[in-house]
Amino acid sequence: MNRSVVTFHYTLRDAQARLLDTSSGGEPISYLEGAGQLIEGLEEQLCGTEAGVKRTIAVPAAKAYGLRDEEQVQRVLRVLLPVDGELKIGDRFRAGEDQSAPVVVVMGIDGEHVLLDANHPLAGVDLTFDVEVVEVRAATEKEISHGHIHGGSECKCGGGEGGGCCH
Ligand code: ZN
Repeated sequence: MNRSVVTFHYTLRDAQARLLDTSSGGEPISYLEGAGQLIEGLEEQLCGTEAGVKRTIAVPAAKAYGLRDEEQVQRVLRVLLPVDGELKIGDRFRAGEDQSAPVVVVMGIDGEHVLLDANHPLAGVDLTFDVEVVEVRAATEKEISHGHIHGGSECKCGGGEGGGCCH
């Protein structure tokens, strides 16, 4: 199967049309089809697209950052948190020393207890992307075997399994 490298600009909004993110005014983003670099629902709908196409693509939460999981909301004692100083609703921090620890957001404060939400900030959010496709080209064999795109002529990643980025 032929795979493409697609480069596009996007503006991302939620269901209330609030702006969440945009590449406008910056660099467009590129991805290798089938490499899992984009959220599932967006890649599905961009499949087979052509350069110059402008589209509005709606992606339901289940195919974006997933649905909210209420079990990810926990009440914990304030003193157990790795945060010094004042805590307020909306604060975000990593719930542990480890870089893989989830980022949590403070949903509520109740005396000695804090309500923390470890869901992805966009979990449960239906997304709308305004997309403008800038370029579509065939992926090279090397790119397909590396599982990522090569911006220049030489790959600097060493060809390891999905290793590193060689833009
Ligand atoms: Zn590479």
